[in-house]
Amino acid sequence: MSIKVLVASRNAKKLAELHRVLDAAGVDGIELLSLRDVEDYPETPETGATFEENALIKARDGVRFAGLPTVADDSGLCVDALNGMPGVLSARWSGGHDTGDGAADEANNRLLLGQTADVPDERRGAGFVSACALVVPAEMAGRLDGEEEVTVRGVWRGMLLREPRGENGFGYDPLFSPDEEPQKSSAELSPERKDELSHRGRALAELVPYLTALRG
Ligand code: IMP
Repeated sequence: MSIKVLVASRNAKKLAELHRVLDAAGVDGIELLSLRDVEDYPETPETGATFEENALIKARDGVRFAGLPTVADDSGLCVDALNGMPGVLSARWSGGHDTGDGAADEANNRLLLGQTADVPDERRGAGFVSACALVVPAEMAGRLDGEEEVTVRGVWRGMLLREPRGENGFGYDPLFSPDEEPQKSSAELSPERKDELSHRGRALAELVPYLTALRG
């Protein structure tokens, strides 16, 4: 019998990445559900000061409202020349919110390019960060050595480009050139290559042993 795990994200492209990475990890005996599978799921504001706090807020909601072990990611881009901003404020950096048509991503990218226009090449370092949380109902804590909550973090370093490039991915991908692929933006990588390198891919890889342990 397989165990159900909720993946709590409303961002369709991010959700697709989370599913792809977990599917590729081949965690047998786990059925991944989305928020679409849960009726009347409320939206809780992300008020945490850190990626970990926000990931925990989202994953705790999954346990509270769906009664299922829940994985959630909170992520963003930390730009060195902006002292780590937009950071946890990445999604709403230019004031709008994600309506699914890419308009918020475009506005965020335009703002970031304007803010960093005078930053010279040698100071254009940036890193994507993903914190992933796994929260389980109290009765399952025994499978995680008594813990009900686990958080892991993945970081992906690169440089901020001067104009958007590429059509894949989402968010700030067109402006981020990863250290491992300096000729490309992360929006020019195949989905598989992005999963291999990305902050989210790295964080989720660390979560896999905990998910495996959940099967009992
Ligand atoms: P969250 O949904 O609150 O975690 O917001 C994440 C935001 O960070 C997204 O809306 C993007 O702007 C940005 N972000 C996170 N991960 C990525 C990525 O893999 N590529 C591009 N942008 C990302």
